[in-house]
Amino acid sequence: MNCRICNTLIEEPFLSLKNSPLANSYLSKENLYKKEEYYPLNLYFCNNCKLVQVDDFVSSKEIFNPQYAYYSGYSQTWIEHCKNYVDYIVKRISLDKKSKVLEIGSNDGILLEQFKSYNVPVKGIEPAEEAADIAIKKGIDTLKTFFNNKLVYNSPELLHQDLIIANNVIAHNPDLKDLVSSMKHILKYDGVITVEFPHLLNLILYNQFDTVYHEHFSYFSLTSIQKLFKQHNLIIFDVEEIPTHGGSLRIYAKHDDNITHQVKSNVENILIKESEFGLNNLSTYINFKNKIEELKRNILKLLITLKDNQFKNRKYKICAYSAPAKASTLLNYCGIGTDFVEYTVDLNPQKQNKYIPGTHIPIYHPDKIKEDKPEYVIIFAWNIKDEIIKQLDYIREWNGKFITLIPEPDVI
Ligand SMILES: [Zn+2]
Repeated sequence: MNCRICNTLIEEPFLSLKNSPLANSYLSKENLYKKEEYYPLNLYFCNNCKLVQVDDFVSSKEIFNPQYAYYSGYSQTWIEHCKNYVDYIVKRISLDKKSKVLEIGSNDGILLEQFKSYNVPVKGIEPAEEAADIAIKKGIDTLKTFFNNKLVYNSPELLHQDLIIANNVIAHNPDLKDLVSSMKHILKYDGVITVEFPHLLNLILYNQFDTVYHEHFSYFSLTSIQKLFKQHNLIIFDVEEIPTHGGSLRIYAKHDDNITHQVKSNVENILIKESEFGLNNLSTYINFKNKIEELKRNILKLLITLKDNQFKNRKYKICAYSAPAKASTLLNYCGIGTDFVEYTVDLNPQKQNKYIPGTHIPIYHPDKIKEDKPEYVIIFAWNIKDEIIKQLDYIREWNGKFITLIPEPDVI
């Protein structure tokens, strides 16, 4: 494939996660026995700009269709994260009722909602219709469309933004040039862009291979995103390491001719950290591939042992909690279906009574766990593991145990 940032030809992937269905295309019962679309899921590393990426077999339009079922509002950890960010950014760049704030991929409005108490005007852009409707019902001004050149060049009211927020969206857009140039176009002279994305360093360090799926086109380090922003005359002047999604970066960017914000030493520090870790060398990714293949064997070993014991002693059940997109990658790559995991449960009603794509594990309401009293509950959404363990503390009443599979299989 050709690199999404610098167009360098990349001959072959460093890791193949087999053919896989789209991770967020949960199946209804009617579609369970119909043909499913599978696409190759391969990870490539560009030795020139250092971007890690998957090929785009599907367009954003196919992924973020009206049925797209991701809602940020179901996680308490995420709500708190949004609130803390808003409290901080309002003060840091002195936002008030005259400011303009725009969020790209505003989902159900969980972040923009937090600006209400500060009376800062906000606007969201969200192509997934159901999520956008939830935000609109909450009174958050939301455009149900894609954020791109076509939109910003035809919408003068979007110009002169004081703050543009793009949290966990930059990975989801295959057309990085269009996305970043659109942000540049509507940014006020002294405006700030903040972008959050899972840090590639943590993906490699903590075996987070399940965060790889077709909807995530790019896996950024500070090194690669800095190159992308430079192409569009934007300077990253600050960066923070934050705990969301297994360890993310939040970058702060500005126009390169804006002298309001000094470039902080954090930027250089994280670039050095990435370089020392080996994030810029192909050999690191080859080692990662070997680690992931070993992890797959360890996950299967644990599940086979539990299943064998279950067979001898027919009492217990193995189920799971949560049905994030990453469960789809993990289950599909490891070949784990209802033969190992009877069902999963999820708080999101849009996912309930549906099936995980590919492996067809059914998704129920969380109350099923209380009724069934399973001995083992696998937590697929390891990024909010602590929140889930607290919520499901009651499984201890019947000696239930939690299992996490990333970075290594663990029974808690
Ligand atoms: Zn490149």
